[in-house]
Amino acid sequence: MFCAAATNQTAEPPEGQIYLKSASEIATMRRAGRLLGRIIREVLQNAGEGVPTIELDKLAYRRIREAGAVPGFLGLYSFPNTLCISINEEVVHGIPGKRRLKSGDIVSIDCGLILDGFFADHAWTIGIGKLDPEAERLLRVGEESLYKGIAAARYGGRVGDIGQAIEEHVTAAGFSVVEEYTGHGIGRRCHEDPKVYNTGARRGKRIGQGLTLAIEPMVNIGTGKTKELEDGWTVVTADRSLSAHFEHTVAIGSRGTEILTRDEDN
Ligand code: MG
Ligand code: MG
Repeated sequence: MFCAAATNQTAEPPEGQIYLKSASEIATMRRAGRLLGRIIREVLQNAGEGVPTIELDKLAYRRIREAGAVPGFLGLYSFPNTLCISINEEVVHGIPGKRRLKSGDIVSIDCGLILDGFFADHAWTIGIGKLDPEAERLLRVGEESLYKGIAAARYGGRVGDIGQAIEEHVTAAGFSVVEEYTGHGIGRRCHEDPKVYNTGARRGKRIGQGLTLAIEPMVNIGTGKTKELEDGWTVVTADRSLSAHFEHTVAIGSRGTEILTRDEDN
């Protein structure tokens, strides 16, 4: 998402080129991803009724620093926090604060971190307390669409296969995909080429060995159009319908695609 560039890295790949990672670089990204997977799981476990979202942000910050990693979003483009927390009609880039979660909310937690010079990026959406059936269905379809996209991310295939798989699944369920925000290549920068659209046809660049991507469908009950609020960050659905966001960082190799932001206990 917005996290475009790490400022404290050396040996950055040139802008505008797809950079395929070596096995040892992927090994570092795997460590970053698993750390982030564990942290997101703990944050989600703490996201209950009555909890102010800033408390979740503090927890994530603490866990990242304790592990010797660096929050990847904090300070990027002056973003003020460690987590993006987006509730209900908020799509992405919500700012943590005093707002308390309540029963019936759906809340997405999005986090980036940097470990030994490499980014991981991961987001998940859960329900708080009792949800409307349509909100439950949105979460299910959103999660499924992420895994459809990951299954379509194959060595020798095309980047456009991913968006096509996501869009087909979402529209078959009667929901919409957000087009104005995309997934992305990831590595020493949070945002590398290529963009990973959540819509589209089977075209785009060929997927080579060692391509690392953040795949991240944003799925809305109503229109796929969005608006940015006056805080300059929070993106909401144009019709204020509910939105869900699921994201994994993956590495694609000739022997398969690996989810790097997996909590290794699960
Ligand atoms: Mg991302
Ligand atoms: Mg993210």
